[in-house]
Amino acid sequence: MFYYYSKGLSSSFLRFFYFFINIKLSFYLMKVTIILSKTNKRQYLKTLLILLTLFTSSLLALSNQPFQGGVAVINIGEFEQKPKVFFKAREVKVLQKDGDYVAVIGIAIDEKAGEKHIVAVTKKKKEHIYFDVDAKSYKKEYIKLKTNKRVTLSKTDLQRFQKEKKKTKKILKSFNKNISSNLEFISPLSGRISSTFGKKRYYNGKAKSPHKGTDIAAKRGTPIVASLGGKVVLRKDLFFNGNTIYLDHGEGVITMYSHMQKFAVNDGDDIQKGDVIGYVGTTGRSTGPHLHFGIILNGEAIDPGVFIGDYR
Ligand SMILES: [Zn+2]
Repeated sequence: MFYYYSKGLSSSFLRFFYFFINIKLSFYLMKVTIILSKTNKRQYLKTLLILLTLFTSSLLALSNQPFQGGVAVINIGEFEQKPKVFFKAREVKVLQKDGDYVAVIGIAIDEKAGEKHIVAVTKKKKEHIYFDVDAKSYKKEYIKLKTNKRVTLSKTDLQRFQKEKKKTKKILKSFNKNISSNLEFISPLSGRISSTFGKKRYYNGKAKSPHKGTDIAAKRGTPIVASLGGKVVLRKDLFFNGNTIYLDHGEGVITMYSHMQKFAVNDGDDIQKGDVIGYVGTTGRSTGPHLHFGIILNGEAIDPGVFIGDYR
């Protein structure tokens, strides 16, 4: 059986930012209304219509239209038991909601736009479910570093980085069935968002890979909390990311916290949402005290703004 994904907001986190966006949009519309009603009535009605169309489509893009670097939330319906769901041969997170199962799929920033499909499997059933991924363009960002140590790597540093990459990649691709979460993330730190997800980065003029998280600037030493409950699966000083913690939330959901000044937890610790796990610093490739916060689903870094909201 084949069917297309078209269901609306199916989980509480989506309803949550739907609510906030609605408030913001209503406010904006009110402002526009006041300005335009003072000038030309026909022009005002036309603009209102265009604005409404734009807002409706942007809401869809944020809430349930998957995009490059975003998340596909797909209601896969009823099954006699919890199905295993695969996207590109990798197992993805499945939630249960009002008798239906919902697959939550991380879309890589470099995933080609267009039609995609997932496969849901139980002992009795196998279904292919189709959905579309929209293209999204991200801005550029130019960063100046004092030295080129973390731009053009020495042989020793390159070897260190490659070793670290092998280790982190393995963790990010893991699928732990013993931990489960509801995906109701909280912000790990309150502060100014100093850089958003997806920006194409140039360090001292040299093109590097895009930014795979949200940067939150705060004073050195400010406590950082766990965005969700989980297990510490990495606690390490990494060449680029500095002092970094990975928390495993099960079923391919991992959060990362980088550039810390110091750690507050140990490898293997079980952590509750909101527990202090470390303190803001500027270790690794960093230009000032901040937290680099990343969310990984099925091995793909996605925009944390989808869950913790740059939109609040
Ligand atoms: Zn960052």
